[in-house]
Amino acid sequence: MNDHFNNKEPDDVIADRFWETKTFSQMTSREWESLCDGCAKCCLHKLEDEDTGEVYYTDIACRYLDENTCRCQNYAQRQQLVEGCIKLRPEDVAQFDWLPSTCTYRLLAQGEDLPAWHPLLTGNSILIHQLGFSVKGKVVSENDIPEEDYEDRVIHWIE
Ligand code: SF4
Ligand code: SF4
Repeated sequence: MNDHFNNKEPDDVIADRFWETKTFSQMTSREWESLCDGCAKCCLHKLEDEDTGEVYYTDIACRYLDENTCRCQNYAQRQQLVEGCIKLRPEDVAQFDWLPSTCTYRLLAQGEDLPAWHPLLTGNSILIHQLGFSVKGKVVSENDIPEEDYEDRVIHWIE
């Protein structure tokens, strides 16, 4: 259902714009992780149309997502705890089309640039929430929604 996002601190603007000069596979682990904008959209449950393969996002968040900070509460163990919490890897770039259209990994894989509010450009990891580009304030925990109701929770603000 889910995927990966990093729990980086609101730290540094990366001066050398490595994402413009390096391929995914040339990046260091830290650079790769820093591409994540912290939107947490990939931590929402998704439903797949079996006939068309189309993926629909719901507003139901993984139980380990802190809905206030949009950070994983158990990042180190996430893959052991949640089946389908996939670690994004550079070699999987061809499969990135299921990620939300705003996801940095998908944008770069499509040859697009980072949005102006990205933490790597601003040094500010809070801005994404203030501008409403994350899931903050818009989702419910899977702890509160029975699975038979998931189809009723499909959203269209994530594409
Ligand atoms: S959708 Fe992409 S940018 Fe957003 S949290 Fe997930 S991996 Fe990070
Ligand atoms: S375990 Fe953490 S990273 Fe994985 S989907 Fe849940 S909240 Fe997101």
